[in-house]
Amino acid sequence: MDARGPAGGMPRRAFLAAALGGGFAVTLAACTDGGPTPTPTPTRAPSPSPTPTAGGVPAPTAFLRSRWSRDPFTRGAFSFDAVGSTPDLRSALAEPVADRLVIAGEGTSADAPGTVHGAYAEGIRAARAIADLADEGDRIAVIGAGIAGLAAARTLADGGHDVVVVEAGTTLGGRLRTVESEDFGGPVVLGSVFASDGAELRAVLAEAGVATRPFTPVVQARTPEGAVAEPSPAGWDAIATAQEWADGNSTDSSLTNALVRSGAVPLSSEPGADGLSPRDWLVNAIATGVEPTTGAAPTRVSAQRFDPDRVWRPTSRVVSGWTALVDRLADGLDIAGSSVVIEIAVDDDGVSLRFDTGESLRMHRVIVTASIGVLKTDTISFEPPLPLLHQRAIGVLGMGASDVVWLAFDEPFWRADAAAQPDGDDERVDGAGETGATPDGADTADPAANVYTLVGATPTVAAWLDVGVDPRRPVLLGIIAAEHARRIAELDDDAARDEVLAALEPFAAG
Ligand SMILES: Cc1cc2nc3c(=O)[nH]c(=O)nc-3n(C[C@H](O)[C@H](O)[C@H](O)COP(=O)(O)OP(=O)(O)OC[C@H]3O[C@@H](n4cnc5c(N)ncnc54)[C@H](O)[C@@H]3O)c2cc1C
Repeated sequence: MDARGPAGGMPRRAFLAAALGGGFAVTLAACTDGGPTPTPTPTRAPSPSPTPTAGGVPAPTAFLRSRWSRDPFTRGAFSFDAVGSTPDLRSALAEPVADRLVIAGEGTSADAPGTVHGAYAEGIRAARAIADLADEGDRIAVIGAGIAGLAAARTLADGGHDVVVVEAGTTLGGRLRTVESEDFGGPVVLGSVFASDGAELRAVLAEAGVATRPFTPVVQARTPEGAVAEPSPAGWDAIATAQEWADGNSTDSSLTNALVRSGAVPLSSEPGADGLSPRDWLVNAIATGVEPTTGAAPTRVSAQRFDPDRVWRPTSRVVSGWTALVDRLADGLDIAGSSVVIEIAVDDDGVSLRFDTGESLRMHRVIVTASIGVLKTDTISFEPPLPLLHQRAIGVLGMGASDVVWLAFDEPFWRADAAAQPDGDDERVDGAGETGATPDGADTADPAANVYTLVGATPTVAAWLDVGVDPRRPVLLGIIAAEHARRIAELDDDAARDEVLAALEPFAAG
């Protein structure tokens, strides 16, 4: 591949060497190394002794967490439809700019925003759009080595195009970040733990040998005292009433506003025989349904666009981590790591990328896969500024916060009957003879709970997923969302660990 840009820019090899500090390999290592910031640093605070905590929760044998809202190159977990959002906004953001620049990623997906398969499909869409615009011999830059960027670059490279991927971080995969952990006995996913839907993505996962397991949520809510609560539809009924009201209006409003204006709230706070009120169930629906799927408080979420069908539906969990897929997509690509793009200047002849090192790179076309969270900041400036419709989309769409916390224990103290859990097999691939009441794939007549939530108080951890299929390694995966995620991301490891362990107390009391 020719090393020079269309207008005699800095030779790419020289640029790479300079940008990467000399002897850095052009192709980054797979995303399994525990690279430092700016990717979210997995943090780990193993407990030296299994002394129970004050609330009766045994000390974990391992602890890992993500901190996505602190990652300067992600600025959150996934985009969400904030008040005023429409699918047109995402499509507008996907429109090519001056025939030279295309934005892609989960944020531009009108069909599947905030998902892995949406980002993957958008990467391929952007590659085809740029390929249609490109002239023979054009050099194309892809900014970002997440799933969208890698899918775009793979598609372009396979089509014979000259492409280089520029990534700010030191690892590949972006929000698919997977780390190998001896403490957990294998890969730990710090981004999307689910493979979501999308036939196109599923086919690629199978080809890459990524092992997934069906995850059929069986949700159990417990009170702060640890009693198992009889589920009530009161909360979701109120949300449905609010959305019906919102759908009848020409202008959008927040879910909170719609709850109030529709008359769905106030709900009674009078406790029933079980000590729980309809209001408690609304708090539960918001904290364990609305916030984890959007990463935002209901005051910010669009009442018209919120999709309750995304809450706890059957899906697949990625048990082998994403590394095999990331490696497969990245195989043979030219990728420059630790290269932070701070300016993209588009002119009649090409595109100039400027880096935080002061260096620049001249290309013919560019695909930008930075998240909505990053585009909202001034991390990357565009010259000339992006068209107004693009700017409006970036302004209106929201960037939600969500983090995962992985905890390993000696005993599965949260399970009603630990002995009833059969051996699991982490090598099983989705659909390959899944039977039995494993915590993950609870598909028997009387399935065991595999999702634990709190009702009767506002939970810090939205939900605990029992992913410790192997009885020798009981593991809980906590999902922290919205403001809790942003707040806990700011805490140091000890404080964060204490707080999530305190959130487990109701599940140790049962
Ligand atoms: C905690 C969590 C839970 C999730 N759960 C699910 C789920 O259950 N199901 C689901 O389908 N999806 C889920 N997702 C969302 C899914 O992971 C994302 O939608 C998807 O991975 C986004 O891919 P992307 O390529 O669009 O963006 P990214 O993965 O963010 O890739 C963009 C890349 O661009 C790089 N970059 C940014 N700025 C610059 C710059 N200035 N210069 C150079 N490089 C730059 C970044 O470092 C990054 O590597 C979850 C995500 C998180 C974080």
